[in-house]
Amino acid sequence: MLSNLQQQPADALLALIKLHNDDPRADKIDLGVGVYRTGDGETPVFGAIKAAEKKLVETQDSKAYLGPEGDMGFVAALMPYVFGKEDPDMGGRIEGMQTPGGTGSLRLALAMVQRAGAKRIIVGKPSWPNHAQICKDLGLEVVEFNHAGEDGKVDMDALRAAIAAGTEGDAMLLHGCCHNPTGIDYTHANWDEIAGLLAKSPIMPILDLAYQGLGLGMEEDAYGLRAVLAAVPEALICYSCDKNFGLYRDRVGALYAMAKDPADLTKIMSNGHSLARANWSQPPDHGGAAVRLVLEDEALTAQWLAELDEMRERMRWVRDKLAAAGVTGGVDLSPIGIQNGLFSIIPFTPEQVQEMRKGHGIYFAGSGRINVAGLTTGNIDKFIAAVAEVTA
Ligand code: PMP
Repeated sequence: MLSNLQQQPADALLALIKLHNDDPRADKIDLGVGVYRTGDGETPVFGAIKAAEKKLVETQDSKAYLGPEGDMGFVAALMPYVFGKEDPDMGGRIEGMQTPGGTGSLRLALAMVQRAGAKRIIVGKPSWPNHAQICKDLGLEVVEFNHAGEDGKVDMDALRAAIAAGTEGDAMLLHGCCHNPTGIDYTHANWDEIAGLLAKSPIMPILDLAYQGLGLGMEEDAYGLRAVLAAVPEALICYSCDKNFGLYRDRVGALYAMAKDPADLTKIMSNGHSLARANWSQPPDHGGAAVRLVLEDEALTAQWLAELDEMRERMRWVRDKLAAAGVTGGVDLSPIGIQNGLFSIIPFTPEQVQEMRKGHGIYFAGSGRINVAGLTTGNIDKFIAAVAEVTA
């Protein structure tokens, strides 16, 4: 039976890691993998997380099952950061559950809207490839609209048209901040308009917040999500702690539902729980428990926020430096300065991508997506010079 299976394409980014690892040049640069790196090229465990993990090992006295919803203390502790300290559950209209990363949350959200009758998911193009992959796996149709224009800014006309064309049974996936792969985010004014348009549309919003705090700041990065939630009757929110707490492989995320009527929340979340049960039964505990311990402790929270500020400021330094290079060879690097988060796309041709790899030992995705955190004081000048040479 198993011989009937078809070969699946290898994950392009994993193949890229191998190419980079196999390159013997000492000054090679990895801009492929989607993790934050310090100025020394490391992806260390946050100090606040280390301290919380220590506390966890010392105080945890049971590893008995918690249930499909996971650690509800973690889920609650995160809410003031996501939804605002004023009214973190929007008058009792929001409830959540823990998931294995943002991916687990998206899997549940998409399966949940499908159970509720959704047929089509409207997604900006390009997007994080796993959005379409999960939709495909569930048998949901993906309807694409153009996310950004040539000018490095959001294509609002395409988004307006996509919302206008939406009908009952459609859901729309929106990146809350730090758009992956373009780094091109909606401005606050764009979000206000989007919220107003969605309020008048039958489209169900699914907000994906995987990089809160890595763009402009924890509060600023939640602006769009909160604007939409204030305007629409119901929505699903997919959250990842894997970047902003540096927990990647520990798989820490949450799914929140905002209901029109709080009386429906129990019924809605029972679907999240039963879907989780059928997929992974329960989320892994360790990372979520560490996040909870950070957020329950004032000093650890301050330490975490300071570490996050440092990451954001470093990425801003890289972005400013690239933007200051302006037109370099045949490409303009200046839009990178107004983009946010780990990623930006440089419009390299496929031949130029190969030349950056072969000629300069600089590795990034075939789409031209670079992880700006891979650039440091030690290699950024080499990178800019290589871009100038290859695109000239
Ligand atoms: N959404 C987006 C837009 C992402 O880029 C990612 C991770 N790269 C995720 C969700 C999921 O993150 P994770 O499953 O690692 O928490």
